[in-house]
Amino acid sequence: MGATEGKRPWDGEVISVQPRTRLLRSFDERSHSYLGYVLHLRGTLDGEAREFAVAVGPAAQAKLEFRVGDRVSGLGVPVADPRTEIADLYRVSGLRVLVRGPDSASNPPPYLGIPPTLEVYRARGHRRLSATTYRSRCSSCLWGCEMPVEMIIDHWNPSKKRYRTEAFCYGPKSCPFYRPGPTRKVPGRRGMTWEEADWVDEQDTAHRGPDE
Ligand code: SF4
Repeated sequence: MGATEGKRPWDGEVISVQPRTRLLRSFDERSHSYLGYVLHLRGTLDGEAREFAVAVGPAAQAKLEFRVGDRVSGLGVPVADPRTEIADLYRVSGLRVLVRGPDSASNPPPYLGIPPTLEVYRARGHRRLSATTYRSRCSSCLWGCEMPVEMIIDHWNPSKKRYRTEAFCYGPKSCPFYRPGPTRKVPGRRGMTWEEADWVDEQDTAHRGPDE
């Protein structure tokens, strides 16, 4: 099979670059995987005009420095399990920047420009972000992120899982757009529920000042 077989052509204008992460929850425990970046685009996917999202690796992001306003093209494979991905396409190849977006971003928030490395995101930590606020104000911000969440309901039977999406903010705690939204509830065995209280976010970002 050729390297491009089964791949869909796409091109479009980058409307955001955000980290591609996954969150695994098991009642009161959680762990993250930092996999790369998600380019949200407005353009054409397989000949159809639409908005879509493409997963790119950290090496591609470091080399091509995608940012809002770039016009980009490539090939990609439709994701096998949409419950575990924000992107529509992954295993991307043939990436090209056709037109470079503006150098300097307008007045933040939202924060545009080239996102930092995944190590920076991990080190900064995040706070939960209202899904409504994410959609209305943060979807273009490099500090915003939607994460696919896999929840192990019963650790004695780890195949019993549920999936959902949660939004988070890695940005400055003083950002005037920030709204936490309701606390996150995680289902467990025998109908039990874990509520992730505010102290979890406070602890995760305690090393940062309000404007960092
Ligand atoms: S709340 Fe967070 S994600 Fe939203 S604009 Fe502010 S820094 Fe960006």
